[in-house]
Amino acid sequence: MTKPKRHYKTTKLENIRNRNEGRVLAAMEKVLPEFKTACYCDICVADIYAATLNSLPAHYVQHGGITLRSAPERNEDVENAVRDSIRIVQEQPNHT
Ligand SMILES: [Zn+2]
Repeated sequence: MTKPKRHYKTTKLENIRNRNEGRVLAAMEKVLPEFKTACYCDICVADIYAATLNSLPAHYVQHGGITLRSAPERNEDVENAVRDSIRIVQEQPNHT
């Protein structure tokens, strides 16, 4: 698999990240232990992460750049989004 291009002409864009990536990871560390019987294989954890990011409005920022506005979601909202994603992934896991 070739790596996708992450630059425009000479401008490197690989440091543009969705601010929610870190917030979702932090919320996952807190929330996943609540669901003791859930499957946390690589496939399910990746699906939970992607489903949660897709359920939240994106906040792309330039690393080290000015933050024009802060993410409006409260930590509680991000944690609830993780809980919803866990339920969805466990109902229909991408594996048998
Ligand atoms: Zn699994």
